[in-house]
Amino acid sequence: MAAKDYYTVLGVGRDAEDAELKKAYRNLARQFHPDKNPGNPAAEARFKEVSEAYAVLSDPDKRAQYDRFGSVGASPSGFEAGFGTIFEDLFEGFFGGGGGGGRRSRARRGADLQYRLEISLEEAAAGTETKIQIPRHETCETCDGSGQETGTTPEVCGTCRGQGQVRFSQGFLTVARPCPTCAGAGRINRHPCRSCAGAGRVAREKLLKVTIPPGVEDGNQLRLTGEGEGGLAGGHPGDLYVLLQIRPHEIFVRQGADLVCELPLTYPQVCLGDEVDVPVLDGKARLHVPAGTQPGQRLFIKGKGMPHLRGRGRGNAVYEVVVEVPARLSARERQLLEELREASKESSGPLLSSFLERMKKLFGG
Ligand SMILES: [Zn+2]
Ligand SMILES: [Zn+2]
Repeated sequence: MAAKDYYTVLGVGRDAEDAELKKAYRNLARQFHPDKNPGNPAAEARFKEVSEAYAVLSDPDKRAQYDRFGSVGASPSGFEAGFGTIFEDLFEGFFGGGGGGGRRSRARRGADLQYRLEISLEEAAAGTETKIQIPRHETCETCDGSGQETGTTPEVCGTCRGQGQVRFSQGFLTVARPCPTCAGAGRINRHPCRSCAGAGRVAREKLLKVTIPPGVEDGNQLRLTGEGEGGLAGGHPGDLYVLLQIRPHEIFVRQGADLVCELPLTYPQVCLGDEVDVPVLDGKARLHVPAGTQPGQRLFIKGKGMPHLRGRGRGNAVYEVVVEVPARLSARERQLLEELREASKESSGPLLSSFLERMKKLFGG
Protein backbone atom coordinates (compact mmCIF):
# COMPACT_ATOMS: atom_id res chain seq x y z
CA MET A 1 0.00 0.00 0.00
CA ALA A 2 2.96 2.30 0.69
CA ALA A 3 3.86 2.37 -3.01
CA LYS A 4 0.45 3.70 -4.06
CA ASP A 5 0.33 7.33 -4.99
CA TYR A 6 -2.40 9.05 -2.98
CA TYR A 7 -3.30 11.40 -5.86
CA THR A 8 -3.72 8.44 -8.21
CA VAL A 9 -5.79 6.59 -5.63
CA LEU A 10 -8.25 9.48 -5.49
CA GLY A 11 -7.98 10.18 -9.24
CA VAL A 12 -7.07 13.85 -8.82
CA GLY A 13 -4.20 16.03 -9.98
CA ARG A 14 -1.32 17.16 -7.76
CA ASP A 15 -2.82 20.64 -7.67
CA ALA A 16 -6.32 19.51 -6.60
CA GLU A 17 -8.03 21.86 -4.20
CA ASP A 18 -9.89 20.84 -1.04
CA ALA A 19 -13.33 20.80 -2.66
CA GLU A 20 -12.13 18.58 -5.48
CA LEU A 21 -10.45 16.17 -3.04
CA LYS A 22 -13.54 15.97 -0.94
CA LYS A 23 -15.75 15.29 -3.94
CA ALA A 24 -13.45 12.58 -5.26
CA TYR A 25 -13.23 10.94 -1.85
CA ARG A 26 -16.98 11.03 -1.35
CA ASN A 27 -17.69 9.35 -4.67
CA LEU A 28 -15.10 6.64 -4.16
CA ALA A 29 -15.92 5.99 -0.51
CA ARG A 30 -19.60 5.65 -1.31
CA GLN A 31 -18.78 3.27 -4.13
CA PHE A 32 -16.54 1.03 -2.02
CA HIS A 33 -18.19 1.40 1.37
CA PRO A 34 -18.29 -2.00 3.19
CA ASP A 35 -22.04 -1.62 3.85
CA LYS A 36 -22.62 -1.52 0.11
CA ASN A 37 -20.17 -4.33 -0.64
CA PRO A 38 -20.76 -6.94 2.03
CA GLY A 39 -18.28 -9.83 1.90
CA ASN A 40 -16.12 -8.15 -0.73
CA PRO A 41 -12.55 -7.86 0.56
CA ALA A 42 -11.33 -6.10 -2.60
CA ALA A 43 -13.86 -3.31 -2.08
CA GLU A 44 -12.91 -3.09 1.58
CA ALA A 45 -9.24 -2.77 0.68
CA ARG A 46 -10.06 -0.04 -1.84
CA PHE A 47 -12.17 1.72 0.76
CA LYS A 48 -9.28 1.75 3.22
CA GLU A 49 -6.87 2.90 0.55
CA VAL A 50 -9.15 5.75 -0.47
CA SER A 51 -9.73 6.73 3.15
CA GLU A 52 -6.03 6.69 3.85
CA ALA A 53 -5.28 8.84 0.82
CA TYR A 54 -7.92 11.35 1.81
CA ALA A 55 -6.79 11.40 5.45
CA VAL A 56 -3.36 12.51 4.29
CA LEU A 57 -4.23 14.86 1.43
CA SER A 58 -7.01 16.67 3.31
CA ASP A 59 -4.59 17.67 6.03
CA PRO A 60 -2.36 20.58 4.83
CA ASP A 61 0.59 19.56 7.04
CA LYS A 62 0.47 15.91 6.09
CA ARG A 63 -0.05 16.78 2.44
CA ALA A 64 3.02 19.01 2.43
CA GLN A 65 5.06 16.27 4.08
CA TYR A 66 3.76 13.72 1.59
CA ASP A 67 4.51 15.97 -1.38
CA ARG A 68 8.07 16.41 -0.18
CA PHE A 69 8.94 12.89 1.09
CA GLY A 70 6.38 10.68 -0.61
CA SER A 71 5.16 9.36 2.72
CA VAL A 72 3.96 10.51 6.11
CA GLY A 73 5.43 7.63 8.08
CA ALA A 74 2.09 6.60 9.44
CA SER A 75 1.41 3.21 10.91
CA PRO A 76 -1.52 1.52 9.21
CA SER A 77 -3.30 1.08 12.53
CA GLY A 78 -3.14 4.83 13.10
CA PHE A 79 -5.39 5.35 10.13
CA GLU A 80 -7.97 2.91 11.42
CA ALA A 81 -8.50 5.19 14.38
CA GLY A 82 -8.56 8.31 12.24
CA PHE A 83 -10.78 7.48 9.36
CA GLY A 84 -13.92 6.74 11.33
CA THR A 85 -14.01 10.39 12.32
CA ILE A 86 -13.31 11.71 8.86
CA PHE A 87 -15.89 9.39 7.47
CA GLU A 88 -18.60 10.50 9.91
CA ASP A 89 -17.85 14.15 9.17
CA LEU A 90 -18.40 13.71 5.49
CA PHE A 91 -21.22 11.27 5.45
CA GLU A 92 -23.58 12.35 8.13
CA GLY A 93 -26.87 12.32 6.32
CA PHE A 94 -25.74 10.17 3.42
CA PHE A 95 -26.06 6.82 5.10
CA GLY A 96 -28.73 5.80 7.55
CA GLY A 97 -31.38 8.10 6.09
CA GLY A 98 -30.20 11.26 7.90
CA GLY A 99 -32.04 14.52 8.37
CA GLY A 100 -33.34 16.91 5.74
CA GLY A 101 -32.12 20.38 4.89
CA GLY A 102 -28.52 19.63 5.82
CA ARG A 103 -29.39 19.71 9.51
CA ARG A 104 -28.40 16.82 11.61
CA SER A 105 -31.39 14.65 12.45
CA ARG A 106 -31.61 13.43 16.02
CA ALA A 107 -34.19 10.72 15.31
CA ARG A 108 -33.04 7.36 16.60
CA ARG A 109 -34.49 3.95 15.90
CA GLY A 110 -35.40 1.92 18.96
CA ALA A 111 -33.33 -1.15 19.81
CA ASP A 112 -34.37 -4.65 18.78
CA LEU A 113 -35.45 -6.95 21.57
CA GLN A 114 -35.23 -10.70 21.90
CA TYR A 115 -37.62 -12.89 23.84
CA ARG A 116 -37.04 -16.59 24.48
CA LEU A 117 -40.21 -18.60 24.21
CA GLU A 118 -40.29 -22.23 25.25
CA ILE A 119 -42.81 -24.45 23.53
CA SER A 120 -43.49 -28.17 23.49
CA LEU A 121 -42.80 -30.42 20.53
CA GLU A 122 -46.57 -30.89 20.18
CA GLU A 123 -47.02 -27.10 19.92
CA ALA A 124 -44.23 -26.91 17.35
CA ALA A 125 -46.00 -29.60 15.32
CA ALA A 126 -49.50 -28.19 15.46
CA GLY A 127 -48.63 -24.49 15.58
CA THR A 128 -49.98 -22.40 18.40
CA GLU A 129 -51.03 -18.97 19.47
CA THR A 130 -49.73 -17.63 22.73
CA LYS A 131 -49.47 -14.39 24.65
CA ILE A 132 -46.22 -13.02 25.92
CA GLN A 133 -45.57 -10.19 28.33
CA ILE A 134 -42.77 -7.97 27.07
CA PRO A 135 -41.10 -5.39 29.32
CA ARG A 136 -39.92 -2.63 27.01
CA HIS A 137 -39.41 1.09 26.70
CA GLU A 138 -42.06 2.76 24.59
CA THR A 139 -41.81 6.20 23.04
CA CYS A 140 -43.27 8.76 25.49
CA GLU A 141 -46.58 10.04 24.09
CA THR A 142 -46.38 13.37 25.95
CA CYS A 143 -43.20 14.56 24.22
CA ASP A 144 -43.28 12.18 21.24
CA GLY A 145 -39.88 10.85 22.24
CA SER A 146 -38.06 14.17 22.30
CA GLY A 147 -37.70 14.18 26.11
CA GLN A 148 -38.46 17.89 25.90
CA GLU A 149 -41.37 19.70 27.53
CA THR A 150 -43.83 20.94 24.90
CA GLY A 151 -42.94 24.40 23.59
CA THR A 152 -39.32 24.34 24.74
CA THR A 153 -36.23 23.69 22.68
CA PRO A 154 -32.96 22.14 23.79
CA GLU A 155 -29.95 24.34 24.29
CA VAL A 156 -26.90 23.83 22.10
CA CYS A 157 -24.04 22.47 24.21
CA GLY A 158 -21.37 25.13 24.80
CA THR A 159 -18.50 22.70 25.24
CA CYS A 160 -18.78 21.02 21.84
CA ARG A 161 -20.86 23.69 20.09
CA GLY A 162 -23.50 21.09 19.28
CA GLN A 163 -21.09 18.62 17.68
CA GLY A 164 -21.42 16.04 20.44
CA GLN A 165 -17.68 15.39 20.14
CA VAL A 166 -14.54 17.05 21.26
CA ARG A 167 -11.37 16.66 19.25
CA PHE A 168 -7.80 16.57 20.30
CA SER A 169 -4.56 15.87 18.53
CA GLN A 170 -2.68 12.64 19.02
CA GLY A 171 0.49 12.84 16.97
CA PHE A 172 -0.66 14.10 13.60
CA LEU A 173 -4.08 12.45 13.92
CA THR A 174 -7.15 14.18 15.21
CA VAL A 175 -9.07 11.96 17.57
CA ALA A 176 -12.68 12.60 18.52
CA ARG A 177 -14.24 11.66 21.83
CA PRO A 178 -17.87 12.06 22.98
CA CYS A 179 -18.37 15.43 24.64
CA PRO A 180 -18.20 15.08 28.45
CA THR A 181 -20.73 17.90 29.08
CA CYS A 182 -23.61 16.63 26.94
CA ALA A 183 -22.53 12.94 26.71
CA GLY A 184 -22.44 13.18 22.94
CA ALA A 185 -25.95 14.56 22.47
CA GLY A 186 -24.78 17.98 21.31
CA ARG A 187 -27.78 19.50 23.14
CA ILE A 188 -28.64 20.11 26.76
CA ASN A 189 -32.23 19.67 27.87
CA ARG A 190 -33.12 22.40 30.40
CA HIS A 191 -36.84 21.54 30.34
CA PRO A 192 -37.23 17.79 30.52
CA CYS A 193 -40.64 16.27 29.80
CA ARG A 194 -42.46 15.50 33.05
CA SER A 195 -43.90 12.17 31.90
CA CYS A 196 -40.58 10.57 31.02
CA ALA A 197 -38.16 12.81 32.98
CA GLY A 198 -36.44 13.70 29.73
CA ALA A 199 -35.69 10.14 28.67
CA GLY A 200 -38.13 10.23 25.74
CA ARG A 201 -39.25 6.74 26.63
CA VAL A 202 -41.21 5.11 29.43
CA ALA A 203 -40.97 1.54 30.75
CA ARG A 204 -44.08 -0.49 30.02
CA GLU A 205 -45.20 -4.09 29.95
CA LYS A 206 -46.91 -5.03 26.75
CA LEU A 207 -49.01 -8.13 26.23
CA LEU A 208 -48.46 -9.43 22.71
CA LYS A 209 -50.11 -12.21 20.80
CA VAL A 210 -47.64 -14.50 19.02
CA THR A 211 -48.72 -16.88 16.30
CA ILE A 212 -46.35 -19.81 15.84
CA PRO A 213 -46.75 -21.61 12.52
CA PRO A 214 -46.72 -25.43 12.42
CA GLY A 215 -43.33 -27.01 11.80
CA VAL A 216 -41.03 -24.51 13.53
CA GLU A 217 -37.64 -25.74 14.67
CA ASP A 218 -35.64 -25.15 17.80
CA GLY A 219 -33.75 -21.86 17.38
CA ASN A 220 -36.15 -20.37 14.81
CA GLN A 221 -36.89 -16.70 15.34
CA LEU A 222 -40.14 -14.89 14.64
CA ARG A 223 -39.84 -11.19 13.92
CA LEU A 224 -42.55 -8.88 15.15
CA THR A 225 -41.88 -5.68 13.25
CA GLY A 226 -42.04 -2.51 15.34
CA GLU A 227 -42.56 -4.32 18.65
CA GLY A 228 -39.09 -3.62 20.05
CA GLU A 229 -37.98 -0.56 22.00
CA GLY A 230 -39.58 2.76 21.07
CA GLY A 231 -37.68 5.22 18.88
CA LEU A 232 -36.44 8.62 20.03
CA ALA A 233 -37.29 12.00 18.54
CA GLY A 234 -39.46 10.57 15.78
CA GLY A 235 -37.34 7.46 15.11
CA HIS A 236 -38.96 4.14 14.29
CA PRO A 237 -39.35 1.50 16.95
CA GLY A 238 -37.07 -1.55 16.85
CA ASP A 239 -38.26 -5.08 16.18
CA LEU A 240 -39.00 -7.89 18.59
CA TYR A 241 -37.43 -11.27 17.85
CA VAL A 242 -39.11 -14.23 19.49
CA LEU A 243 -36.53 -17.01 19.80
CA LEU A 244 -38.27 -20.38 19.89
CA GLN A 245 -36.89 -23.10 22.11
CA ILE A 246 -38.48 -26.51 21.90
CA ARG A 247 -38.51 -28.52 25.11
CA PRO A 248 -37.04 -32.03 24.85
CA HIS A 249 -39.80 -34.60 24.35
CA GLU A 250 -40.32 -37.64 26.60
CA ILE A 251 -40.13 -40.06 23.68
CA PHE A 252 -39.29 -38.48 20.35
CA VAL A 253 -36.14 -36.88 19.03
CA ARG A 254 -36.57 -34.74 15.98
CA GLN A 255 -34.46 -35.39 12.88
CA GLY A 256 -35.49 -32.84 10.29
CA ALA A 257 -39.17 -33.54 9.71
CA ASP A 258 -38.94 -37.07 11.15
CA LEU A 259 -39.68 -37.99 14.74
CA VAL A 260 -37.46 -40.81 15.90
CA CYS A 261 -37.73 -43.07 18.93
CA GLU A 262 -36.33 -46.38 20.08
CA LEU A 263 -38.69 -49.33 20.12
CA PRO A 264 -37.68 -52.17 22.46
CA LEU A 265 -38.88 -55.58 21.21
CA THR A 266 -38.28 -59.13 22.41
CA TYR A 267 -36.41 -61.77 20.46
CA PRO A 268 -39.59 -63.75 19.65
CA GLN A 269 -41.31 -60.52 18.47
CA VAL A 270 -38.62 -59.73 15.91
CA CYS A 271 -38.35 -63.39 14.87
CA LEU A 272 -42.04 -64.02 14.44
CA GLY A 273 -43.27 -60.52 13.69
CA ASP A 274 -45.97 -58.70 15.67
CA GLU A 275 -48.47 -55.86 15.84
CA VAL A 276 -47.56 -53.41 18.60
CA ASP A 277 -48.94 -50.18 20.04
CA VAL A 278 -46.52 -47.31 19.52
CA PRO A 279 -46.66 -43.65 20.47
CA VAL A 280 -47.23 -40.96 17.85
CA LEU A 281 -47.20 -37.25 18.66
CA ASP A 282 -50.97 -37.02 19.05
CA GLY A 283 -51.69 -40.40 20.67
CA LYS A 284 -51.10 -44.05 19.78
CA ALA A 285 -50.91 -46.04 16.58
CA ARG A 286 -50.58 -49.68 15.53
CA LEU A 287 -47.24 -50.65 14.05
CA HIS A 288 -46.66 -53.80 12.04
CA VAL A 289 -43.36 -55.51 12.90
CA PRO A 290 -42.48 -57.85 10.03
CA ALA A 291 -41.12 -61.32 10.81
CA GLY A 292 -37.31 -61.31 10.67
CA THR A 293 -36.91 -57.65 11.71
CA GLN A 294 -33.25 -56.97 12.59
CA PRO A 295 -31.91 -55.01 15.57
CA GLY A 296 -31.32 -51.37 14.53
CA GLN A 297 -33.80 -51.64 11.66
CA ARG A 298 -36.04 -48.60 11.23
CA LEU A 299 -39.78 -49.05 10.97
CA PHE A 300 -41.97 -46.16 9.78
CA ILE A 301 -45.41 -44.76 10.13
CA LYS A 302 -45.67 -42.41 7.18
CA GLY A 303 -46.92 -38.84 7.68
CA LYS A 304 -46.80 -38.97 11.48
CA GLY A 305 -43.72 -36.77 11.80
CA MET A 306 -43.45 -32.97 11.87
CA PRO A 307 -45.09 -30.81 9.22
CA HIS A 308 -42.72 -29.07 6.82
CA LEU A 309 -42.47 -25.40 7.76
CA ARG A 310 -42.43 -24.34 4.14
CA GLY A 311 -44.28 -26.56 1.76
CA ARG A 312 -46.68 -29.42 2.17
CA GLY A 313 -46.75 -32.76 3.89
CA ARG A 314 -45.19 -34.17 6.99
CA GLY A 315 -42.22 -36.31 7.91
CA ASN A 316 -42.54 -39.81 9.35
CA ALA A 317 -42.61 -41.36 12.76
CA VAL A 318 -39.55 -43.59 12.88
CA TYR A 319 -39.09 -46.55 15.26
CA GLU A 320 -35.59 -47.85 15.69
CA VAL A 321 -35.71 -51.47 16.76
CA VAL A 322 -33.82 -52.45 19.90
CA VAL A 323 -33.87 -56.10 20.88
CA GLU A 324 -33.94 -56.35 24.61
CA VAL A 325 -32.20 -59.37 26.12
CA PRO A 326 -33.85 -60.29 29.43
CA ALA A 327 -31.51 -60.20 32.43
CA ARG A 328 -33.62 -62.73 34.30
CA LEU A 329 -35.55 -65.68 33.04
CA SER A 330 -38.50 -67.58 34.44
CA ALA A 331 -38.16 -71.36 34.64
CA ARG A 332 -40.50 -71.71 31.65
CA GLU A 333 -38.55 -69.24 29.56
CA ARG A 334 -35.31 -70.95 30.42
CA GLN A 335 -36.73 -74.31 29.42
CA LEU A 336 -38.04 -73.00 26.08
CA LEU A 337 -34.81 -71.18 25.32
CA GLU A 338 -32.76 -74.28 26.01
CA GLU A 339 -34.96 -76.17 23.59
CA LEU A 340 -34.57 -73.34 21.08
CA ARG A 341 -30.78 -73.45 21.46
CA GLU A 342 -30.78 -77.15 20.61
CA ALA A 343 -33.16 -76.64 17.70
CA SER A 344 -31.25 -73.72 16.20
CA LYS A 345 -27.94 -75.58 16.13
CA GLU A 346 -28.96 -76.82 12.71
CA SER A 347 -30.03 -73.46 11.24
CA SER A 348 -27.77 -70.48 10.80
CA GLY A 349 -28.37 -67.02 9.34
CA PRO A 350 -26.22 -65.32 6.70
CA LEU A 351 -24.12 -63.49 9.31
CA LEU A 352 -23.16 -66.69 11.13
CA SER A 353 -22.57 -68.62 7.86
CA SER A 354 -20.24 -65.91 6.59
CA PHE A 355 -18.45 -65.75 9.93
CA LEU A 356 -17.86 -69.51 9.99
CA GLU A 357 -16.72 -69.39 6.36
CA ARG A 358 -14.10 -66.72 7.13
CA MET A 359 -12.92 -68.58 10.21
CA LYS A 360 -12.45 -71.70 8.14
CA LYS A 361 -10.32 -69.78 5.63
CA LEU A 362 -8.19 -68.31 8.39
CA PHE A 363 -7.48 -71.49 10.32
CA GLY A 364 -8.04 -74.01 7.57
CA GLY A 365 -10.47 -75.80 9.93
ZN1 LIG B 1 -41.73 12.56 27.50
ZN1 LIG C 1 -21.38 18.81 24.24
